[in-house]
Amino acid sequence: MKSVCVFLGSSAGNHPAYERATADLGRELARRRITCIYGGSRTGLMKTLADSVLEAGGEVVGVTVQLLKDKEEFHRGLTRLHVVPTMHERKNLMIELSDAFLALPGGIGTLDELFEVCTLRQLGFHSKPCGLLNVHGFFDPLRDMLGKTEREGFMKRPVQDALDVAEDPAEILDMLRRGIPSLP
Ligand code: AMP
Repeated sequence: MKSVCVFLGSSAGNHPAYERATADLGRELARRRITCIYGGSRTGLMKTLADSVLEAGGEVVGVTVQLLKDKEEFHRGLTRLHVVPTMHERKNLMIELSDAFLALPGGIGTLDELFEVCTLRQLGFHSKPCGLLNVHGFFDPLRDMLGKTEREGFMKRPVQDALDVAEDPAEILDMLRRGIPSLP
């Protein structure tokens, strides 16, 4: 696993555990020489992640859109910054550049990205592992919702086949490295 795409908040959240876990993940990515792909922003957890990887000597590749670049909403210290015209092309490039996907706490943007990569995987457009870093129980309600989706007969395969979940950065990276069962 050479690169992991991380989806996470452009805000920092209001519990210190979120920034702490994000910085731990950044250091762990750098230590393992895994390139961090992310949205390129200079705010919130996104900034914390990029800064922690770079400070630990790792590589960070940002993928942003022209609209956000024009508004100067991008991190100036990245290893590389890709700028594409639309959000659609942005997600496609993030998927192309990454060996796995990991969501951390965030808002609607983060959830949108997480669900898109899971949906594309479910349909067979890619076969890369997807995971959640469940910091401070942030994703517990989402896991409950997905459990209900499965119990009510709306999932073709068990939820665990779609998403790895762990509370520790090293543990989730190990799970993503091992991969998850391939779809039929
Ligand atoms: P949110 O969770 O709503 O804060 O949105 C975070 C996600 O949306 C990130 O994973 C980014 O890909 C994208 N995003 C939000 N704000 C920005 C920004 N200023 N620059 C780049 N990407 C952003």
